[in-house]
Amino acid sequence: MEYARLVDTYELLGRTSGRLKKVGAIASLLEDTPAPLLQRVVLLLQGTVFPAWSDREIGIANQLMIKAIALATGFSEQDVVARFTASGDLGKVIDDLTSRKRQRTLASRRLTVEKVVENLQAVAAVEGKGAVDRKLSLVTELLSFATPAEAKYIVRTTLGTLRVGVAEGVIRDAIARAFFADVVWGPRAAAVEAEGLRIIAEDGMALDRRLRERNRVVTRPAGEIGKLDLWKPAGKTDLVIVKDDTLGARLKAAVTDAIEMAWYLRSDYGEIARIAKERGLRGLESIGLEPGKPYHVLLSEKAPSLEAALAAYPNAALEWKYDGARLSIHKQGDRVWLFTRRLEDVTAQFPEVAAWTKQAIAAKEAIVEGEMLGFRQGKPMPFQFLSQRIKRKYDIEQIAKEIPVQVNLFDIVSLDGASLFRMPQRERWALLQRVVKPIPGKLQFARHLETTDAQQAAAFYREALAAAQEGLMVKNQDAAYQPGRRVGYWLKVKPTMENLDLAIIGGVWGTGKRTGWFGSLVLGCRDGETFRECGMIGTGIKEKGKGVTFEELTALLKPLVTAERGNQVTIRPHVVVEVGYEEIQRSPTYSSGFALRFPRVVRLRPDKGPQEADDLERVRRLYSLQARQASPAGIATKGPHV
Ligand code: AMP
Repeated sequence: MEYARLVDTYELLGRTSGRLKKVGAIASLLEDTPAPLLQRVVLLLQGTVFPAWSDREIGIANQLMIKAIALATGFSEQDVVARFTASGDLGKVIDDLTSRKRQRTLASRRLTVEKVVENLQAVAAVEGKGAVDRKLSLVTELLSFATPAEAKYIVRTTLGTLRVGVAEGVIRDAIARAFFADVVWGPRAAAVEAEGLRIIAEDGMALDRRLRERNRVVTRPAGEIGKLDLWKPAGKTDLVIVKDDTLGARLKAAVTDAIEMAWYLRSDYGEIARIAKERGLRGLESIGLEPGKPYHVLLSEKAPSLEAALAAYPNAALEWKYDGARLSIHKQGDRVWLFTRRLEDVTAQFPEVAAWTKQAIAAKEAIVEGEMLGFRQGKPMPFQFLSQRIKRKYDIEQIAKEIPVQVNLFDIVSLDGASLFRMPQRERWALLQRVVKPIPGKLQFARHLETTDAQQAAAFYREALAAAQEGLMVKNQDAAYQPGRRVGYWLKVKPTMENLDLAIIGGVWGTGKRTGWFGSLVLGCRDGETFRECGMIGTGIKEKGKGVTFEELTALLKPLVTAERGNQVTIRPHVVVEVGYEEIQRSPTYSSGFALRFPRVVRLRPDKGPQEADDLERVRRLYSLQARQASPAGIATKGPHV
């Protein structure tokens, strides 16, 4: 398939802001794409060549791309750099340079989707001696065959800066539109404009005369329409028009729900598009959990207090909310896979967990979930400490000694080939107890308490906090397990942190959409007369619309810049922002010794001068409030159900 077809779609997407038009453009591309190529085309649409859960990256930075552009276009690197500084987008740079270079003979060979994906995936795989040259030649090869527009998108995809606004929801709707009949009902039915479609309308509907003339319209009773197969190849229908809201909404939801569920189970819209094209709704509905394939786990909602959480679910089960990493443990015969909540495969990093799993689970096939904690000198450490082990790809044995782990299991979602999603929480917990023979201190059950008594619940909560854990999970025991969902199943209860008022003391010039603005800012807390860094912030600031915008902040901060180095600037403390965050962490990177986890701008504080910003002492105090002394014994002891 020609890459140019994809480029036409990118251009169209770039020009349109309407969601429906975007969905239409992508749907038509998907319809034209042969099934074996759908996976690659969908990845490229999302600006990448690897699925979201893959840890592979193309791994080319601006510097190398500048070289590649110079090589491919014959312009000097200085030329490329000068243009890059002006526009902030190397994609635009190569587009301009190749368009200007008229003498270039048009390549006789056309670039294909296959070739683009092959080369970019190969770039990621290159290692060892001569790697840089090899990467360079793989990219240059693509660029020298490309038309200016193609080159622009290849550069952006390679650098990970392609932003054409293809959100996941848009792809989901485009898959529905491409392979299933659309359904329209109620007032929208009267406004349908279509041409050349196969339409089924409900009996007795007053349809526009032009609609009848321009399309092939047949009518059917509602009962028959309710049983229609909406998959285009089976139902031979592009559009269904009904009177009744309930029927219309039900038909439409059957398709979107199936695609969404398939996404939670497979997390790869390319594969889902292929299944939809080849096997329709039945194909999508037959997607189940499979050991070795990561799925989106069930998430939790935040409860304002323990009392509120207990009131929400009359038969709640309480569990410690451990501060570690969610682990989905898959076992099939002798094989074990470990996936994080972000669907990364971390099996290689935790060989001991795989060994415990084989020892503790006798069943041939099972998928269980738990929270993994990292320890230092017998004490459980916060998540960020464990994350060092998650990231480490070498010297596994050494780091396993330095950071021993423990897994606290809390759920089972599949047993011997059967998904347990529909089984209520209560029964899944009971089944987990039967399937796993715990190894105390290593692979054990989460601390679990079934009570309606407020005092007992409060004592359990205090115990979890005293053991340096985050708080409690309050679980609806009657609820099923819905992959990827957040509302109605589990409530988390944890102490909330007070916001901090911090001064902005530095910034980094943005790229891509944030070109011309500070894309992220350095936060500072007061320490006597000076300010100390306590992290970077880019969240909570809007590109446009209501709230604090990048433009507004940049205008406020630009006159305060005192020094500039590369894309980084130092800013005289003057502007104060209120910052929300999840947690304060120790950090060697910032001069205060602390960093905020998930910081977000809540609002500007024009009423406060820098001298009224929060000081290091307050950050320290909040940190120690949150880091209650751990009781290692508390973590290692067994829960009441063990
Ligand atoms: P949050 O990330 O704050 O939305 O909280 C949800 C996360 O809490 C889950 O993804 C798990 O990683 C973690 N967690 C810790 N203990 C438990 C537990 N007992 N049950 C469920 N999730 C837990």
